[in-house]
Amino acid sequence: MNLAGQTPTRHIPIMATTIFTKTTGAVDPNEPALNTPPTGPETAFLKKPKLGPGKKKKRDIPEGLWTKCPKCETMVFDKELDENLKVCSKCQHHFPIGARERIHSLVETCSFEEMDAPMTSVDILGFTAAASYKDKLATNLQKGNLKDAVITGVGQIGPHRTGLGVMDFSFLGGSMGSVVGEKLTRLIERSTEKSLPVIIISSSGGARMYEGMFSLMQMAKTAAALAYHARARLPYLSVLTHPTTAGVMASFATLGDLILAEPCAMIGFAGPRVIKDTTQAELPPGFQTAEFLLDRGLIDAIVPRKEMKQRLIKYLDFLTGRPKGGTTATPHAA
Ligand SMILES: [Zn+2]
Repeated sequence: MNLAGQTPTRHIPIMATTIFTKTTGAVDPNEPALNTPPTGPETAFLKKPKLGPGKKKKRDIPEGLWTKCPKCETMVFDKELDENLKVCSKCQHHFPIGARERIHSLVETCSFEEMDAPMTSVDILGFTAAASYKDKLATNLQKGNLKDAVITGVGQIGPHRTGLGVMDFSFLGGSMGSVVGEKLTRLIERSTEKSLPVIIISSSGGARMYEGMFSLMQMAKTAAALAYHARARLPYLSVLTHPTTAGVMASFATLGDLILAEPCAMIGFAGPRVIKDTTQAELPPGFQTAEFLLDRGLIDAIVPRKEMKQRLIKYLDFLTGRPKGGTTATPHAA
């Protein structure tokens, strides 16, 4: 029987009729309900806890004021970190520093003449993997004031007019593509032409694989330019900062008359995991750190960032034959 008292159609079995009756919401008084409806106050069931935005306690910690040091875990005041050239005052951990900030810490005020500033990379291979090279470049260009992973130019460091190239890891991991290679080569060639020493401060994950063979060719190009610079008996100082690896390490970064490094910088060619898998040997403690490589003679000195400028001046004095203490320019107030 259904609500309207009509006879069910002949194709529907009796059970189906019963189900139909129940779904309409009617209760057959002769048929006991399988589940007794709750007798208690139904409101207790219906009331649900509110999930909407409630009263939340706001944490009034302004962003961008403090940075946690990854080494000693101290919260460092950002202003203090900037004043200290991005070095933790507690444990001397060297945080990454941008290329422009580093140049500012080394050259005399307003003495830096940037070269090839507008030069930008081109996606010559139409490279696409997880993201296209074109998109990666666009994202990195939007990020800040860098057109690529190196800034080059000529500046005054103490009494020395010097060709200076500074890499920036924040642009595509400081990778060396055609632009990095070309800018550095032009810097070295210009310095050779003007009889200037060259300082290159590296920070790089290696050759930029988005540019395939073109990035690898930069290794030979920069090395050849440095060979002409050396033939002119002009000094080249290479400074390795965290991290300096792969194609950059295997080319201009290790061709310095003096090779310096910042404390605890990771320096190497392939990553430790690759070396371990290839050699099937346990790697010694401190492998690929500046300190490890100083012990084994690959690098000549470890120089803390705050001392870098004065040490570079001292080395240039020595290499250019300038008498000790013969500085003429006012040291830059860092
Ligand atoms: Zn620290």
